Amino acid sequence: MARPGSNTSEMFAGAHSMQFMQVAARRARQRRSWDDRRVASRCRLMTGERPGGSATDSPGRETCLWGSSRMKRLAIRVRGTVQGVGFRPHVYREAVVRGLVGCVSNDAGGVTIDVQGDDCAVDSFVTALRAEAPAASRVVGLEIDPSDLHAARGFRIVESRIDGERVGPSLPADLAPCSECLREIHDPGNRRSAYPFTNCTQCGPRYTIVDELPYDRARTTMSHFLMCDACAREYADPGDRRYHAEPTACPRCGPSLRLRTAAGRLLATAEQALALAAEAIDSGAIVAIKGVGGYQLVCDATGEAAVLRLRERKRRPDKPFAVMFG
Ligand SMILES: [Zn+2]
Ligand SMILES: [Zn+2]
Repeated sequence: MARPGSNTSEMFAGAHSMQFMQVAARRARQRRSWDDRRVASRCRLMTGERPGGSATDSPGRETCLWGSSRMKRLAIRVRGTVQGVGFRPHVYREAVVRGLVGCVSNDAGGVTIDVQGDDCAVDSFVTALRAEAPAASRVVGLEIDPSDLHAARGFRIVESRIDGERVGPSLPADLAPCSECLREIHDPGNRRSAYPFTNCTQCGPRYTIVDELPYDRARTTMSHFLMCDACAREYADPGDRRYHAEPTACPRCGPSLRLRTAAGRLLATAEQALALAAEAIDSGAIVAIKGVGGYQLVCDATGEAAVLRLRERKRRPDKPFAVMFG
């Protein structure tokens, strides 16, 4: 494989964002699995504790068990940063674990939920929407309206509605790799081993890949990448942490790394592209990294000659550059 020559001062890596490729700060987040929570809910039922622990519980009062004869149905609109953060899977799990029926979907302004079931279970569900919300989400408002009971079975994530009223941004900025994805990247036996575009419902690109809301793969730049069978299975599995992870990808079906000279000649791919790009930066080259949001020009901040050359090209003799620490 050809190596970048010393006269090759610019190289192009068909990469994601530098931030996304780098090992970023781990987000400490305690995440109970769906099954754990199902067990916890059953335990609460057995002990008579009101699931969700609503603040309206009065001491000494006989707490309500799911299974009362009272039923209700609510239409709920959730506002805030609730798309691209695993919020629909969260809603799905909270509903299913309580035996509720209905559906959840994204709309242009947030998330819409139609939920029906036991009176107390629905109350507990509403409490859990905020209390158990995914770490990257931010719920700023819940609009709750009663609806007429209807015949319904099961709970589903349904196709996004594109008619919702747009109320402020509901998509987060790109999210640094979570600890579970990092573990997979560093696991030689994992099918995403060393794959820099690994992501899940808790991390990965968001704002920079979305073409329009509601946030669905079809309306992101990832729509060009057809999921392989393994990724599609994870995407469709409610018990999987990549359930409805819109940018999900793997080495078989997702974006790949390519390193090119300034003239466009392909030098290397995959891990070798990354290694050669790092070597080139170390040897004083300026590397243009094509990320999901554009290009980043990168050089060794301690290399005086490279920084000077970058200043000349950018016509920025004095103004400080952003410095990245790894
Ligand atoms: Zn992740
Ligand atoms: Zn795949």
